[in-house]
Amino acid sequence: VSPRERGPADAGPDAVQAFLRFLAVVLLAGFAVGLARGFLLVQAHGYLGTGLQRMALLTATSEASRAISWAFAAALFVGVPALLYGFFRERSFAAAALPLALLPLHDLARRATASDPERIVRLFGPLGALVPEHARHGAALVAVAILALLPLRVILRALANARRSPLALPVTLAVVAALAPGVLHAVAARTGRPRGPNVLLITIDTLRADHLSAYGYPRATSPFLDSLAARGALFERAMTPSPRTTQAIASIMTSLYPQTHGVRTLWGNLGRERLTLAELFRDAGYATAGFWTTTFLDEKRGLSQGFDAYESTAASSDRAEHLTNRAIRWLSRAVGTRRDAARGDRKPFFLWLHYRDPHMPYNPPAEDRAFADPAYGGVFREACVFWPTKEIMVYNHLGLIGPADVAQAIALYDGEIRYVDREVRRLVRDVEKRGVLDKTVVVVTSDHGEGLSDHGYYFDHGDLLYDSSLQVPLVIAGPGVPAARVREQVALLDLAPTIARLGGVAWPVDGEGRDLGPVMARAAGPEGARAVAGGTTEAPPFFAESGENLLGPFNPHRHLPGIEGKLRSIRTDCWKLILSPQPNGARGLELYDLAIDPAETTNVFASQLAEARELEKSLDEFLAKDRESSESALSDVDAETREKLRAMGYLQ
Ligand SMILES: [Zn+2]
Repeated sequence: VSPRERGPADAGPDAVQAFLRFLAVVLLAGFAVGLARGFLLVQAHGYLGTGLQRMALLTATSEASRAISWAFAAALFVGVPALLYGFFRERSFAAAALPLALLPLHDLARRATASDPERIVRLFGPLGALVPEHARHGAALVAVAILALLPLRVILRALANARRSPLALPVTLAVVAALAPGVLHAVAARTGRPRGPNVLLITIDTLRADHLSAYGYPRATSPFLDSLAARGALFERAMTPSPRTTQAIASIMTSLYPQTHGVRTLWGNLGRERLTLAELFRDAGYATAGFWTTTFLDEKRGLSQGFDAYESTAASSDRAEHLTNRAIRWLSRAVGTRRDAARGDRKPFFLWLHYRDPHMPYNPPAEDRAFADPAYGGVFREACVFWPTKEIMVYNHLGLIGPADVAQAIALYDGEIRYVDREVRRLVRDVEKRGVLDKTVVVVTSDHGEGLSDHGYYFDHGDLLYDSSLQVPLVIAGPGVPAARVREQVALLDLAPTIARLGGVAWPVDGEGRDLGPVMARAAGPEGARAVAGGTTEAPPFFAESGENLLGPFNPHRHLPGIEGKLRSIRTDCWKLILSPQPNGARGLELYDLAIDPAETTNVFASQLAEARELEKSLDEFLAKDRESSESALSDVDAETREKLRAMGYLQ
């Protein structure tokens, strides 16, 4: 019997029944898919074998929540038009509003159950100020309990009514499926809340270690970082695995080399199956946030995984002060006042900031231009910019940039460092003001260095593998960190296991980095004194690869495109070997004796052949693990990313 023959009066409820049945099926399917995905992620992250069952539960349930949310949206997308069509055909306009009413309900349910009672606490909004916090927590717990018990009542009633209404059972099961992950998640998040220290991770783009006063630079560029280094560990030789932002940040977050985590270009994408530092902390019950200004760190890069809040402040300005302000606003909610912190009922936090200021163009605020020469009359006045074009400038092809221009550019670059140093001080002071600095591990580092005319490479990074681009500052201070100057070579890949342990959580998967705890302890002890006195260390060799070839034929060091054409290097405490692939399978090889030639000016490959061959063998073994054969072509880049590349001077 078709609806038309039965008449408009019966058609409405019939369409509603069909819609609800459809919704139930889709939600159940979403629940099943989410659980399966959660299980696969738990396996991929290795949570089960490491006693991190609570994190396994959190991962599985958050995956299920997410899948149900998607399923609900998909069901509405398909089902609502169908339902509306049915209603309009049968002229039952009033009931057509029903599916639309489900939209806010879904959002409320999702917010109430997505993670833990603190989410519900926030739903109280401005009323929260009038109700004491412990009362709000109590109310939130009651709300969670009601949400947990409600399905039970509904199930019982549905079972009793099952014979009368064929719809009751599937709808009830779907409601239970939708609420279950949220409730489990809330329970898992409440049990065994971590007390571990907070983590404040600060990466400053394009920051050369040797331009910080803490590293012996004659200009007072970094008074605050110097004071931080004085009470913590300073790493004299910290290295990035790729002198480009996206690749380096992905290595910091995953403890993997670019050829393993798979981000090989600025516009590369980190796969969801990779465990990141932010995911680890969020799953361990931390409040997590990432704030940044660099274009390439947007959600498409996959680096947002694990962050409760992930935002760029670039829309208003990419200046450091805006980033600091954003982070302080977040801290005022996550940490609260000194009194809130003293009560000790807040989650610990993992907060990451990526400042961009020392990156080209070098254009510090007026008060940080003191290093610049006021009488200078060359090509860089207010700011050092790519001039006249990036291609011509980066290798100074036309010889337009002279020593006075380089000096002025460096003075402006140093001014940017001084400016960021002040902003980092303001941020750390804010943490101190809230009474939690003694419970906070502060890590300051960079994604890569900068050419600054060394090796004929002007004001850029990414193409060459000399230490001016590979070496980054690294300072760690806070609970569990001894005061030490660490001489042995370390890498950004070491940060994830090190920071995880300092935060009281074990890094559960096999990374390619190492926990620097023992390294810091050695450096702080009598052994460290010996190492500083000139002995070599047992640091593992460290590998690096250049970025994508953005300058094309303007780059005299790059002979081949794609992943096969990337420059590669292996570095020990004493030696560095750089490989530049040439046409017809030939190899360009440079060897530097870092002990006597730290500026890498004399290629000793021919005279130190035995050493070179041994390093080449290790490098080849490492490269054999690189399964990707070709860099994603620039034509694969979507229009928006292409526009960003152009805006930043990476493309013309
Ligand atoms: Zn960068």
